[in-house]
Amino acid sequence: MEQPPPLSPPAPPATPLQLEQALQLLGHSGLPLPAGDPGTAPWLQGLIDALVDLSSRDALTGLANRRAFELALGREIDRVARSGEPALLLVLDIDHFKKINDAHGHGAGDQVLRAVANALIDSVRPMDLVARIGGEEFAIILPNCASAFGETVAERVRRRVERMPVLVASGAEIGCTVSIGGAFAPQWVRSTPALWVERADQQLYRSKSQGRNLVRLEPTAVSVVSNEERRLLFETFQFQDHE
Ligand code: GH3
Ligand code: MG
Ligand code: MG
Repeated sequence: MEQPPPLSPPAPPATPLQLEQALQLLGHSGLPLPAGDPGTAPWLQGLIDALVDLSSRDALTGLANRRAFELALGREIDRVARSGEPALLLVLDIDHFKKINDAHGHGAGDQVLRAVANALIDSVRPMDLVARIGGEEFAIILPNCASAFGETVAERVRRRVERMPVLVASGAEIGCTVSIGGAFAPQWVRSTPALWVERADQQLYRSKSQGRNLVRLEPTAVSVVSNEERRLLFETFQFQDHE
């Protein structure tokens, strides 16, 4: 008879949650400390909520971080597949950002990043999710965005950044631009977050290579369904057949 595999050694005991450290983290982040009497259930719940909020934010800009973005993208794909409502993903990359750092210093570069983050928030609806997904890379998920409006929205974002001079600590005024790529989630087709991002990235590559400070959107959603998405769609139907 086959021997059962040997038991793996017991995991080392988890470090108990250090409340002091958790409170310090919150203090450093600038988030408000939980209200109420320390140690009570509502206070602990407030602390947990604040830590969850902290773990989903980018420390420099306060936008959603990459982890929160990927979770939101997965949820949006499910929603699009269920409802058939169109959703647009925009990926944005600041043009020649290295030059800004080189000419004005890293601190000024950070100020530009914060200003761009605010400009993005200001140019979309409250229901849209704006995230910082890399050093000078951002993404916006726009649920329920009709394909006819995609270009208009992306152009509004691009112009908003272009028109925004950033006054940095040295007194210098810095201008910057973004290149934008976008793709709609294929309606009625199961996709994956990675495939959706890849499509938007391909368009971002086009805007960079065609001159920067441009918007390039994938022409239509359904006509460019990839083989992998066809497979995902097929598997979904198989699954339904067996129900
Ligand atoms: P392109 O137009 O092709 O995008 O050129 P670029 O210079 O923007 O691109 P590149 O990827 O060469 O440079 C990105 C720079 O962003 C390099 C890196 O030092 C800088 N960077 C990344 N994260 C931060 C940050 O948090 N703060 C600052 N100030 N700079 C950052
Ligand atoms: Mg980049
Ligand atoms: Mg760049």
